[in-house]
Amino acid sequence: MEIVRTRRELLQYITSKKGGAFLVPTMGYLHEGHLSLVRMARKDAAKNGSVVASIFVNPAQFNDPKDLEAYPRDETRDVSLLKRAGSDVAFIPPISEIYPAVDLAERTTVRAGKVANRWEGAHRPGHFDGVATVVAKLFNIVMPDVAYFGEKDWQQCKVIEQMVRDLDFPLELRFGKTVREADGLAMSSRNALLRPEMRVRAASLFRILCDAAKAFKEGAEPRRIEDGTKFALSSAGFSSVDYVAVVDEESLEPAERMLDARILAAATIGGVRLIDNVRV
Ligand code: AMP
Repeated sequence: MEIVRTRRELLQYITSKKGGAFLVPTMGYLHEGHLSLVRMARKDAAKNGSVVASIFVNPAQFNDPKDLEAYPRDETRDVSLLKRAGSDVAFIPPISEIYPAVDLAERTTVRAGKVANRWEGAHRPGHFDGVATVVAKLFNIVMPDVAYFGEKDWQQCKVIEQMVRDLDFPLELRFGKTVREADGLAMSSRNALLRPEMRVRAASLFRILCDAAKAFKEGAEPRRIEDGTKFALSSAGFSSVDYVAVVDEESLEPAERMLDARILAAATIGGVRLIDNVRV
């Protein structure tokens, strides 16, 4: 596996290979969730194509500087995990390579579409614009045939899908299922920041979301489910709940019917903000 740090080196690599590029964008501190996407890319790329996994902690998508500073990093470990999962290239650019102009206000950026407005978008101002901008840049740098994202960040999948449609990126998107720990907690780089006691309690997020999905299937009214779920999360030890939302999984507007619904939630425990979602 090659480690590439500049756009120029990456272009050289991509243009020297036949078979196209298969891109897995990440912020590093990798776990099985990321690696499942790399393996999916490896399968699709077969022998001919190149799997490119990027590691870039994108400052533009952090609305809280403390969150950015605390974000866990371990490049050596990430590189060895990527190698084992079958990546051909680890693209690990320094910030100056992605954002040569320092002043954010002077840059051209992508404004994410309507699906970004609610939920994560409403609670993290500028977050999805930052995500869309860096993903658009990675698409232009890597020029992938296929790009891979995880359902764990469902709204992000939909934001990128809308961007690809609206801005005519010539590529295919594939979404991987959420990979979970044995107790159900969705894998996330931020889980490493949880102290043991809170880590145990954090698993209740998934269980409570599954209960909510069951209640919806049994005919309970969505707004009542949302209120009940918020209460259950607080009782389980979450210090704050940003949102619980029963939504249509394509539009992300509040859902009234069961077909194609998803339940999204964001809540904080032990100072760590977690997000998760389940399909009804
Ligand atoms: P991140 O490094 O958190 O930006 O995540 C990089 C990619 O991995 C995104 O597309 C995420 O949705 C995906 N991802 C993160 N956690 C998981 C998980 N537990 N299961 C599946 N995909 C995940």
